Amino acid sequence: MKATRLLITLLLAAGIIGYTVWRSSRTAAPEEKLIGFQDADKPFDMPKDGKPDMRFHFLSAWQANQVPTASRMDAPMGSENGALTYNAQKFWEMNEKRGGHHTGDDLNGIGGMNTDLGDPVFAAGDGLVVYAGEPSTGWGNIVVLAHRDPQGKPVHTMYAHLHEIKAKLNTLVARGELIGTVGTGNGYYPAHLHFEARSTDGADIGAGYTARPLNRLDPASVVAALHDASEKGILPSPLAAAKQDDAPWTKLEMKNAEKFSELKE
Ligand SMILES: [Zn+2]
Repeated sequence: MKATRLLITLLLAAGIIGYTVWRSSRTAAPEEKLIGFQDADKPFDMPKDGKPDMRFHFLSAWQANQVPTASRMDAPMGSENGALTYNAQKFWEMNEKRGGHHTGDDLNGIGGMNTDLGDPVFAAGDGLVVYAGEPSTGWGNIVVLAHRDPQGKPVHTMYAHLHEIKAKLNTLVARGELIGTVGTGNGYYPAHLHFEARSTDGADIGAGYTARPLNRLDPASVVAALHDASEKGILPSPLAAAKQDDAPWTKLEMKNAEKFSELKE
């Protein structure tokens, strides 16, 4: 009986000591960092190195106000119908080697390999340049355009692996305007255009392959939905017409619109 009592006491003591040690080791562990977490009422943290991280940012009030409506969209490579190009890796194709679904279309010139290196890349629709730079070596040069669809919903198009960037950040580009040239992503791939469409009002570059859909849209469907091949559709875009004018603001006045996004064909 005495032995049993002693055994129970010892077991209890061991339990208490064990629990105390476990608790202290837990409290001593570094505080858990919530990555990407943002309190609604907490101001955004200042960038650590003094520069904003352009791989992920929200549009400024000025940018948001300037995003034009893309009343029509055309293919970004080849003719406005995408002639003389083929899609080597379609949107949302599973790539086992990369461990995810492809986030865009890989558009190539029909000559294959590097025959399309340096070919023009056109703005798919009237847009505002919200990113122009090289976020990583693998991505190479990237241009991101912000558009609104005719219903006013924000949609972005992204043009990656560019050989050269021909568009400037925060400028307006018209549908069919040269914004870059087809490249190899610093020699990582045979020349092609990685073309994405996104349902977003902030610019984030992200990865070329993903397990989850995120905000990615099927770029071919986005273009097709706004690709009106009627006679009216082939006319210069509202933005192109305004840009032909020496003083586009006069054009806005003439059209009784306050901003480019209000221009209609
Ligand atoms: Zn791709």
